[in-house]
Amino acid sequence: MIEKISMECFTDEEFQSRITIKRLGEYVGKSVILMGWIHRKRLHGQVIFLDLRDESGFMQLVIPKTLEIAKMAETLKEEFVLFVKGEVAQRSAENINPKVALGNLEVFVSEIRVINKSEPLPFAVNLYEGNLDENLRMRYRYLDLRRDVMRQNIVMRHKIIKFIRDYMDNYDFVEVETPMLTKGTPEGSREYVVPSRISKGQFYVLPQSPQQFKQLLMVGGLGRYFQIARCFRDEDLRADRQPEFTQLDIEMSYICQEQLLQFIESFMISLFQKFNPEKNFKFMPFKRISYYEAMTKYGSDKPDLRFDMPIMDATDVFQDTTFQVFINILKEKGNIKGIKVENKSFTVKETKELTQIAIDQGGTKGMFAINFLENSIKSSLASHLKPEEIEKIKAIFDAKPGDTVLLIADIARVVHKTLGILRLEVARRLGIMEKVKNDLAFLWVIDFPLLDWSEEENKYVTTHHPFTSPKDEDIPALFSGDPLKILTKAYDIVLNGSEMGGGSIRIHNQDLQHKIFEMLSLKEEDIQARFGHILRAFQYGAPPHGGIAFGIDRLVTVLQNGSSIRDVIAFPKNNSARDLLMEAPSPIHEDQLKELGIQIEKPKTE
Ligand code: ASP
Repeated sequence: MIEKISMECFTDEEFQSRITIKRLGEYVGKSVILMGWIHRKRLHGQVIFLDLRDESGFMQLVIPKTLEIAKMAETLKEEFVLFVKGEVAQRSAENINPKVALGNLEVFVSEIRVINKSEPLPFAVNLYEGNLDENLRMRYRYLDLRRDVMRQNIVMRHKIIKFIRDYMDNYDFVEVETPMLTKGTPEGSREYVVPSRISKGQFYVLPQSPQQFKQLLMVGGLGRYFQIARCFRDEDLRADRQPEFTQLDIEMSYICQEQLLQFIESFMISLFQKFNPEKNFKFMPFKRISYYEAMTKYGSDKPDLRFDMPIMDATDVFQDTTFQVFINILKEKGNIKGIKVENKSFTVKETKELTQIAIDQGGTKGMFAINFLENSIKSSLASHLKPEEIEKIKAIFDAKPGDTVLLIADIARVVHKTLGILRLEVARRLGIMEKVKNDLAFLWVIDFPLLDWSEEENKYVTTHHPFTSPKDEDIPALFSGDPLKILTKAYDIVLNGSEMGGGSIRIHNQDLQHKIFEMLSLKEEDIQARFGHILRAFQYGAPPHGGIAFGIDRLVTVLQNGSSIRDVIAFPKNNSARDLLMEAPSPIHEDQLKELGIQIEKPKTE
């Protein structure tokens, strides 16, 4: 039982006259009241220094040991919350700290009250560097947020989002909130479901994106919509994913692909010039490459084009090869392709490591390195290569003495994937990535195929979502022709090898939309049950429309030169989709389950 609550008292007047630290420059020579945390304490011969931290900055407090309050000040601990009265003074020239804001000022303290104490923290919040355990940071996120870098991240996120809102408003976009409790929009991920109490046995689905709502807003005559929208995807989490994340979601009526891409380019340029001006745009206007080119030339649907190092095709060189590995590959209609690494000969150890990466991450069986010397080559393949084959490879790759060509022989998909991985790995190892770190290589990947064949499900699946419009000239192929050859009006925006956003011009014609659902092997009753509403909406004069969505978390991370999206989210989840602070997910009471009409099989405990 607590017998007594001890708290220092403050008058409302004192609270009202509190000054935040960032404004102290206006108060030199004056007496002020400050409130904040003890960031750091230093005891010097005759003085106690306390660095006080509030939401706006840091200030050095000075307490000469001759003062009565000095005894008490000595006992104070980091992260205690203080009330401080004192006088703001210019520091003497030799005491100025040019590295911190307001490092030219200090406050001579005349009164201190302890507003609140703090237990010793589970980790220091006043360090500038250091590898803190991320799980610990998440468990005590409210402490982690006290760290300067975290506060800056969160404040910058706010400023970036405010900039986006103002920008969109300027171009007549209207922000509209769309429901969280809704029905699924397929975006390629598993959905989070919420049981309904009122309609037992039925479920809402949390939106993977507001896709259908934004299209319905266009049918509703809104013209230009945007939203800073929360989205939910129940995916197995890879490093840079969160189960709930924020998108900048955009949709426009009467827009064609070219107009939309240009609008977004200007928007991105404004955003980066404002928040990360030291970066150099590598492509202006942004480069555009087809999905096919991205995959075959760079081995990725989100290639990093800050450097080139394209994949070249050497398959034809080996038509008469006597090397059994290549003979087998060619029999299976495989490819032999490679990348050229300029001015580099890999050591045996390096070659082994790269080969292992090719095997582990690319899923191929091996890699062949050919190092070109003045008049010969150094390679494990040397004994299998005829002089004319060497000459041909040299010509295809334009290889000079000193260069090395890395070859992969496999089915096309594996060749491209593996070389895409090796391209990035080599660039990292050779310091190319470091050299280009201030470049922004934005590009649009366009002309995506509409459909992919899923071996697993034995049916066609869409590569984007099913509302993406096929290219006009490819529509006939929906009825006769190879559906896998149909291309779409979809586009992804890629920056330095990561996908920042994507979207498409949509289908606005009911019959075409219906045909796409049929292509996906949906039965009529499923089409009506899942998508009846949108087909119905398209009966009533739906305007042509299109849009795009950006991952805000990633965008903010890149603008901040950060490395993890979790650092720009106030309360993120860990890699097992757990909220370590609130301890969610967690069991709920049986009564609650009963009310929802849900029975759960208790996990067996052994
Ligand atoms: N709904 C899409 C997504 O979330 C974006 C779009 O097509 O506008 O990726």
